[in-house]
Amino acid sequence: METTTVTRKLIVGNWKMNGSLAGNEALLQAILAGLGAETAAPDVAVCVPAPYLAQVQALCTGSPLAWGAQDVSEHEAGAYTGEVSAAMLRDFGCRYVIVGHSERRRDHGESDEAVARKAQRALACGITPIVCVGETEAQREAGQTEAVVKRQLAAVIHTVGHCVSEIVVAYEPVWAIGTGRTATPEQAQAVHAALRAQLGAAVPEPRRVRILYGGSMNAGNAAALLAQPDIDGGLIGGASLKAEEFLRIVRAAV
Ligand code: PEP
Repeated sequence: METTTVTRKLIVGNWKMNGSLAGNEALLQAILAGLGAETAAPDVAVCVPAPYLAQVQALCTGSPLAWGAQDVSEHEAGAYTGEVSAAMLRDFGCRYVIVGHSERRRDHGESDEAVARKAQRALACGITPIVCVGETEAQREAGQTEAVVKRQLAAVIHTVGHCVSEIVVAYEPVWAIGTGRTATPEQAQAVHAALRAQLGAAVPEPRRVRILYGGSMNAGNAAALLAQPDIDGGLIGGASLKAEEFLRIVRAAV
């Protein structure tokens, strides 16, 4: 029977292909100082470009800020030039890895099945995959939102089986990413509730699987989104590159 477990909220920054050694240090120091001043905070992480993982590990080890990568190979090791394996991410202390971000599905042709294999590979190395799902604007207009996100999540459930209780899901409507157009709290909640119901058929405690919202979340709209019963946190792109804005979202999640 499902329990009423309350999950800690999770706020994750996705830096995308942004950053520099000097800029990262300044950003992280400001975030760490802000987190240190909080008496209560949700779980917080940043997902950074792979070349900066060593820097982030050095700066954040022992702090409340976790870190992760933005993609992982679906293969274990071998002749895959340019790929980064889950074991390599583990060597650099990654707790999370984003898989299936819409920019990778769109620009790199990642299929639902490839995304599922990436999630499986991360889990095998003890890294939590943040599985992104989301519909395009055309799909929403065609009334296909629920079918699309459920198809994307179903591939992961099919591949990882009961381990799906270890994943994080991020609902990111494609039309809201980097556009300044956010889903309304009601629109987002409706999709989150559908995803929760789908998880409920796969795991005994679907409330323990955190479902993040992502798509132009910022300090102004975070509180209303995070107040929804099935929104367990946020995946933040642009607003995670500004320390004070990111910290305001973190405070909205307490
Ligand atoms: C993202 O890249 O995952 C994202 C949600 O971006 P933004 O917050 O900039 O829309």
